[in-house]
Amino acid sequence: MFEKILIANRGEIALRIQRACREMGIKTVAVHSEADAEAKYVKLADESVCIGPPQSTLSYLNIPAIISAAEVTDSEAIHPGYGFLSENADFAERVEQSGFVFIGPRAETIRLMGDKVSAKDAMKASGVPCVPGSDGALPDDQDEIIRIAKSVGYPVIIKAAGGGGGRGMRVVHTEAALLNAVSMTRTEAQTAFGNPMVYMEKFLENPRHIEIQVLADEHGNAAFLGERDCSMQRRHQKIIEEAPAPGLDPKLRDKIGERCAEACRKIGYRGAGTFEFLYENGEFFFIEMNTRVQVEHPVTELITGIDIVQEQVRIAAGEKLSFRQKDIRLKGHAIECRLNAEDPYTFVPSPGRITVYHVPGGPGIRVDSHVYQNYVVPQYYDSMIGKLIAYGATREQAIARMKTALSEMVVEGIKTNVPLHQDLMRDAAFVQGGTSIHYLEHKLAAAKKAQ
Ligand code: ADP
Repeated sequence: MFEKILIANRGEIALRIQRACREMGIKTVAVHSEADAEAKYVKLADESVCIGPPQSTLSYLNIPAIISAAEVTDSEAIHPGYGFLSENADFAERVEQSGFVFIGPRAETIRLMGDKVSAKDAMKASGVPCVPGSDGALPDDQDEIIRIAKSVGYPVIIKAAGGGGGRGMRVVHTEAALLNAVSMTRTEAQTAFGNPMVYMEKFLENPRHIEIQVLADEHGNAAFLGERDCSMQRRHQKIIEEAPAPGLDPKLRDKIGERCAEACRKIGYRGAGTFEFLYENGEFFFIEMNTRVQVEHPVTELITGIDIVQEQVRIAAGEKLSFRQKDIRLKGHAIECRLNAEDPYTFVPSPGRITVYHVPGGPGIRVDSHVYQNYVVPQYYDSMIGKLIAYGATREQAIARMKTALSEMVVEGIKTNVPLHQDLMRDAAFVQGGTSIHYLEHKLAAAKKAQ
């Protein structure tokens, strides 16, 4: 096992990885920007290295600075967390070329999955069902694009092959709007992702977002850890996630889960990963694979008892999976609310000093957060300040515990989205379970109209 791991990330996930390492007796190195110098997890790390100014392009995305930090601290492996460089194949390659272990898949796998067109091709070849759409990237020929859209059937969605984070997508309802939408998405994709390639999918009108967590080792073993429902979204960004997905037939779960595990074996996948699907009328349609640990991994940990971050570390150290598929039992229900420093209804970010901070506790409550009283939420990064996770024997119990936890949560000095989560925990459709990915946007729009 490794003696020392460098954590190339910040915020709650940096702390989460640090905790996993400490439990395993592994020393940690925190790298941080000037804006995060005072963060508690930086102080708690065995060593810390400042890698640059606040802007992420100069610090958390600064590959040479991170590699030098690993060199000067004699780290053996680098955990990239999520976001930042976690899905950057060049980074993974540079890490390995510099003699460190990258805690994640091989660079070539990240590259394959990072291009959504090649990812879909690989999945089709492995027998994973995909959203119907263009066969690969869209051509330049305009008549051909019109013909493809006709055969897919409106509405369609134009998506950037290099897209991510809910960006680089455009829904098209009519032929009149098609060509303009394609060229706008191409231009945006070139600017945002450096890759103008776009593809087309059928726009599903009422799907749920259901994803399968997998773990695979270097020795050809792969298993799936059930699913998560992440349908509560705003602007294609998840706000609440839960496991298992309410009302999903266990037979269907096993069938799609086994396909994902099989795909991992076929492509020689290594590490933790997530297959994201849209789910409509009892059918799963693959949209993309994330080749890293996800924000919402705790809900799976709570219902399986498996520490996903520690498994990532063991797999990177060359160990075999410590369990088999038949050992995985899903027990109880878990719900995660993402806590953001933002106005609960306008969603405008609200950085600044937290003047009062009390976290909830009690049976089944887990708080993954790096913040504390007097912590200053920097303006430079994502607005997520932590995650509140509730576990119960049943979904009803998990919701009841989440409601209590939200009522105990006190964050003053900045705005948070706690009131929105309180609304949603009381929302009849959420309580019933199985809402679609468009539910929250529709609810917010209706509330705005009523004002
Ligand atoms: P990203 O990598 O930016 O997260 P995804 O391909 O995972 O992009 O899509 C993000 C979200 O966009 C999905 O969870 C869903 O809400 C919406 N979406 C993507 N593709 C479709 C589609 N074909 N039909 C309807 N909604 C879609």
